[in-house]
Amino acid sequence: MEKQILLDLTKEELSQAIKPSFRAKQIYNWVYAQYANSFEEMQNLPKAMRADLEERFILNPLKIANKEESSDGTIKYLFELPDGKTMESVLLRMKKEERDIEGKLVHHAKYTICVSTQVGCKVGCSFCLTAKGGFVRDLTAGEIVAQVLEIKKDNNIAPERRMNIVYMGMGEPLDNLDNLAKAIKIFADDDGLSISPKRQTVSTSGLSTKIDALGKMDLGVHIAISLHAVDDDLRTELIPMNKAYNIQSIIDAVKRFPIDTRKRVMFEYLVIKDVNDDIKSAKKMIKLLSGIKAKVNLIYFNPFPGVDYKRPEPKDMERFAQYLIDHGLLATIRESKGIDISAACGQLREKELEAL
Ligand code: SF4
Repeated sequence: MEKQILLDLTKEELSQAIKPSFRAKQIYNWVYAQYANSFEEMQNLPKAMRADLEERFILNPLKIANKEESSDGTIKYLFELPDGKTMESVLLRMKKEERDIEGKLVHHAKYTICVSTQVGCKVGCSFCLTAKGGFVRDLTAGEIVAQVLEIKKDNNIAPERRMNIVYMGMGEPLDNLDNLAKAIKIFADDDGLSISPKRQTVSTSGLSTKIDALGKMDLGVHIAISLHAVDDDLRTELIPMNKAYNIQSIIDAVKRFPIDTRKRVMFEYLVIKDVNDDIKSAKKMIKLLSGIKAKVNLIYFNPFPGVDYKRPEPKDMERFAQYLIDHGLLATIRESKGIDISAACGQLREKELEAL
C-alpha cells in the first residue's frame, strides 16, 4: 500500500481515516504544536496505533535540499518532495525581535512565509525563471502546508508565533485551486498551525474565472494581483496568459471578490526600466484601479542571467510611486528582500538543476 502524506488531511478527514477518531486532535497537536518528527514520539497514542500510522502515512514530505540566507535575514529554501522533485519557499523577517536593556521582549519578530503551490508553472511569464522550466506538477495540500511547518521548525519559531503566508512562490496558486483551498483550511485549523485566512494572501497572475471561483468559496483570504502592466499588449508580452484573461476581466473579477472592508487588494507591479516605469503607465493605472480599494506594491525587477529586462532607477521608481500617491492611490515600493541571494522565484532551483 502506498503511503499517504499525513499533512494532506484536514482534521475531519484524519478522524475518518483512523480509529478511534478522537485521536485525530492529538495527532494534529503532535504534528503542528509539538513539531513531532516521528510517530514514535507521539507517546500518548497506543503503541499499535503508532505502528499503524507509521505503516500508512508519511509524516514529513519535505527534505531541505539547500538553503541560502541573505544578510537581511531572508532565508530561501529548496525543498525536495517525496518523488525527488524540488520547489522553493522563502522566510521573510519583516521585523526583528526587540528587547529592552533588561532583556525583556518588547516586540516579537514578524514573519512572512512565501510558499509554492506547484513544481514549475504553466503561466509562462517572460521575466520568470520558474516559467523556463515549464510545468511539472501540482503540489498536494500537505506539500503546501509542510513548507510552513518545516520552516518554523528549522528556525525554532514557537508554534504559537503568528505569521503571514503569501502564496507567491513557484506556480500559479489558482491553477491548483482545490489543493490551495484545502491548504488554507488546514493552516487555519485551531488545533493545527492556527493561521487565520485573514493572514493568508493568494497572489495570482490573474486567472479571472478562478478568482471568481475562489471568491465563491468565501474562505476569507486576501488576494494580490500580479498586474505588472496597464495595457494588454505589454501585459501579454510579460504574461502570455493575458491573451485569455485580459486586464479588464481581472479588474471585473476583483470587483466581485468578497473583500474584507478593512482590507485592500494588493496589486503587484514589477517595475522594469524603460518598459513600464513611465508616467503614462502611472496615469493608466490610476484610471484602471478607480473604484477598487487598492494598494499598489511597486517591485524592483531583479535582473538575472539570460533576461534583457533591467532594474529601474530609484529616481524613476520614486517618481512613479509619488505620482500614484499624489492622485490618491496607496502605493509602496517594496524593499528588496534577499537581494543578495537568488531572490526571483525559481532561481535557487535553477541553480541546483544546473549543478546536477
Ligand atoms: S511569475 Fe509566477 S505565475 Fe509567472 S511563470 Fe513565474 S511562477 Fe508562474
